[in-house]
Amino acid sequence: MSKGKIIIISGPSGVGKKTIIDKFINDERFNLKYSVSATTRKPRDGEINGRDYYFLSEEEFNENIKNNNFLEWAEFAGNKYGTLISEVKKSLENNNIILEIEVQGATAIMQSNIIDDLLTFFIVPPSIEELEKRLRKRNTETNEKINLRIKKASEEMKLSNKYSYVIVNDDVDVAVNEFKKILEKELLNE
Ligand code: 5GP
Repeated sequence: MSKGKIIIISGPSGVGKKTIIDKFINDERFNLKYSVSATTRKPRDGEINGRDYYFLSEEEFNENIKNNNFLEWAEFAGNKYGTLISEVKKSLENNNIILEIEVQGATAIMQSNIIDDLLTFFIVPPSIEELEKRLRKRNTETNEKINLRIKKASEEMKLSNKYSYVIVNDDVDVAVNEFKKILEKELLNE
C-alpha cells in the first residue's frame, strides 16, 4: 500500500506527544505529515476542523464505520476517534505519515498485516502524578474527564512494551533529542 513509513505515536493524554512531533513536522529531512483523525469529541478552543481533527457527529462517525472508511477506530474517554483510510492513502505516496493514536487503535494496526513498514513510539510521563499536574495545568477538560484520562493512562502504560521505542518525556529537550536520533536512524539510515 505504501512508499512512506507509517509512524505510530501513542502515550497518555497530556504526555506531550504533540509538542514532540511538532518540532519535526516541518523538518524537510524527515518528510513527515500528520494524518488528521476523525472524532466525535467537541473542538477545544483554537482547534480547527480539517487541521486538528475532522469533527464529526456520532451519526457521521457511525456512517464511516459502516462504510469501512476507517483503518482503525477506538473509543477513548467517552468519544470515538478514527484514522480514515483516505487520509493515510493520500499522504503515503510522498510522505512518512504520523498517526498520533491511542493504544487500542495502535494495537489493531500492529496486529493486522495491512501495513508492513511501521515505526512505533510510546511516550511516557516521568510519573502519573506529573501527568495529572500537566493535564490540570492544560485545563482543556472538565475535572471528571481529567480523572477518566488519568485512569486510562495507567491502563495504556501497561501496553508500552508493544512499541518499538519508549521515550520518557521528563525534560522535553531530552525527549525531543531522543526522538530525533531515532528518526535519523530509522528514516535516514544515519
Ligand atoms: P484528544 O481528545 O486528547 O485529542 O485525544 C485523546 C486520545 O485519542 C489521544 O490518546 C489520541 O492520541 C487519540 N487519538 C486521536 N486520534 C485517534 C485516532 O484516529 N485513532 C485512535 N485510535 N486514537 C486517536
